[in-house]
Amino acid sequence: MKLFFLICILSQVFLPDSLDMRVEQLHDSIVSIDTHNDFAMLLAFPDLEPSVEKGQVSFELMKEGRLDAAFYAAYQAQGPCTEKGHENAKFLADSMLLALHRYATEFKHLGGIAYTAQDVKDLKAQGRAAMLLSIENAYCLGEDISLVEHYYNLGVRMIGLTHNGDNCVADAVTDTTETHGGLSAFGYEVIAEMNRLGIIVDVSHASRKACLQAVEASRTPIMASHSGVYALKPIPRNLTDKEIVAIAEKGGLIQISIGRYFLSTLPRAQVGIPHLIEHINYVVELVGIDHVGIGSDFDGGGGIIGVANMGEMKAITRALLEEGYSDRDIGKLWGGNVLRIMEIARQQAGSF
Ligand SMILES: [Zn+2]
Repeated sequence: MKLFFLICILSQVFLPDSLDMRVEQLHDSIVSIDTHNDFAMLLAFPDLEPSVEKGQVSFELMKEGRLDAAFYAAYQAQGPCTEKGHENAKFLADSMLLALHRYATEFKHLGGIAYTAQDVKDLKAQGRAAMLLSIENAYCLGEDISLVEHYYNLGVRMIGLTHNGDNCVADAVTDTTETHGGLSAFGYEVIAEMNRLGIIVDVSHASRKACLQAVEASRTPIMASHSGVYALKPIPRNLTDKEIVAIAEKGGLIQISIGRYFLSTLPRAQVGIPHLIEHINYVVELVGIDHVGIGSDFDGGGGIIGVANMGEMKAITRALLEEGYSDRDIGKLWGGNVLRIMEIARQQAGSF
């Protein structure tokens, strides 16, 4: 009898519960992708924006959290739209992209850069993390259309139109100036060039008008790489139902950020996975599982109770299972949807 109790106690201590095992098995069969982080900033310029919490992103943490791929953004804060301002923005973006390339080379035993959906799958099959490259703020393009191809050649497969201020491409949602009334004429050119090359248009940070105009202008599905739902937390950075429906109707994605700022008005210490799930559920109910995903914003302000860094991403999978989502739906939400629009962007490239 004593032995029986001992076995019971030991099994509770050492055997993972069955839900954790399901999470592990599910991650064997799906591809998980996080569509936004600001790791590059720390990597290239450690002294920039010291107030933002860092250390939430690495190939090691991706492995720990069963995160297969992530878009690593080259970010520039918005400055003046002058020749000097544009030169500086390009220097920042170029430096961050080169730093990311260096990181991927240095840690090639753990991961590598992915340029296509197939690369992501190949790296997963090798047990390596996939680094996808993006730009946060088309400020670095200045007014030079040839730079879109320059960034494509550096590996960039998604470009966010703005950050927190209007630039030469589009208006930002947090800037009330309305310089262009949405997209500029150059902005339309930029989107056409992105479509031609196979770069995904990212409308997180873009103004309401710029977002809706970009949906109309882009010939391939677009993405809001790190946003939330305005109806649940009414801040400019979150998407209105109108924007969510418009993005989804054209096949695009609403990627929910893992940050208190987007999710809830409660203090940071009280915001956790249930709030993230609430935003996911809202988008699913409005437009369906094919149009939602995760864009953490780690190293750029992201992080909630229970998912403090990439190493804890599996907790989201567990919560989605508990919420009643099927394996197939979780597969779509975690990365299937992103792979789908990456593939469309690549296949359509060159045909416009
Ligand atoms: Zn951002």
